[in-house]
Amino acid sequence: MVDEWVKDLIDEVLSLSRSLKEKLGRRIKIMEVCGTHTMVISKSGIRSLFSETVELISGPGCPVCVTDQMDIDKIILYAQMDNITLCTFGDMIKVPGSLSSLEKERAKGARIEVFYSPSDALNYAKDHPDEEIVFVGIGFETTIPLLAHCILEAKRQRLQNFSLFSLHKCLPPAMKALLDDPEISLDGLILPGHVCTITGSRAFEFIADDYRIPCCVSGFEPTDVIEAIGIILAHIKREEAKVEIGYKRLVKPEGNLTAKRAIYTVFEPSDARWRGFGEIPGSGLKIKEEYRDFDAEAKFPLPEVESVPERKGCICGDIVKGKKIPTDCSLFSKVCNPKEPFGPCMVSQEGACAAYYNYGG
Ligand code: SF4
Repeated sequence: MVDEWVKDLIDEVLSLSRSLKEKLGRRIKIMEVCGTHTMVISKSGIRSLFSETVELISGPGCPVCVTDQMDIDKIILYAQMDNITLCTFGDMIKVPGSLSSLEKERAKGARIEVFYSPSDALNYAKDHPDEEIVFVGIGFETTIPLLAHCILEAKRQRLQNFSLFSLHKCLPPAMKALLDDPEISLDGLILPGHVCTITGSRAFEFIADDYRIPCCVSGFEPTDVIEAIGIILAHIKREEAKVEIGYKRLVKPEGNLTAKRAIYTVFEPSDARWRGFGEIPGSGLKIKEEYRDFDAEAKFPLPEVESVPERKGCICGDIVKGKKIPTDCSLFSKVCNPKEPFGPCMVSQEGACAAYYNYGG
């Protein structure tokens, strides 16, 4: 049974959205920038609850989905090297590269280990001194401090068989690239609670200041998301734009200074390729020169890898930019499903296609 206050909250936000739709003569377009929010929105039926008045679209919030096809191919090249044990998070195993996947390479005999935490991979390296461990660093600001900590620990312990392939990405530059795209038009943004725990809400204030788009940092309960929608709608109604923190229990304007210090001790900003976007200046993090011994790209240089387009028919690139939705894809649920994913948005637990497939739009 739904609590009375939840019913009141839904009624209040619905009524606000109806009056705004009437005023604007169209639905209000709000993007969520976090794969976990995408799942919550689909799973709890929030998308369909508001569908008449609010269009909720998914953005570049899933780190696996935004990893460029060329980088997937590079990960597979590492897995193919005889002397390397490739360590990764589970989501990467099924992601198709241009010619193979880690799953296929493992079936052919490649040494691939799956870990939930990078520190488990570090412990694995300690316990297997005869193996060269390459950890695939995929993730946003939420995950990066853990990897920074691993590199610092590996250096302190003088581990010689642990290195990182850093494909980390920072969300604020990607949001700028997204909002600079003339084909994208948004009325509001639900900002990622976990990322903002590290970056702080201030890192996203440029969205309100420069683009006049109201934002709310949201937690991960369905009611958190509905409240965030309500906060954004209220700002639209007042014709004001600011970044409000709806996830006050964890997020501060300045973020987590200790975690940020750890990140910038080990890494420095670099350009990075994003699926659907191409190269975004300053959106990646590379390992600093003084930690070069732990940089897989320096330790095990790869041959030139050509840039390749997405697999034919897959529109994941447009989905992570919010230009299309999963059901626009002609392969959705026919050729492409979570058991046999054709693109990363169907592989990842946080991918929009997987959310639509499992819970509906
Ligand atoms: S349904 Fe499959 S092929 Fe289509 S965009 Fe999603 S992941 Fe790519």
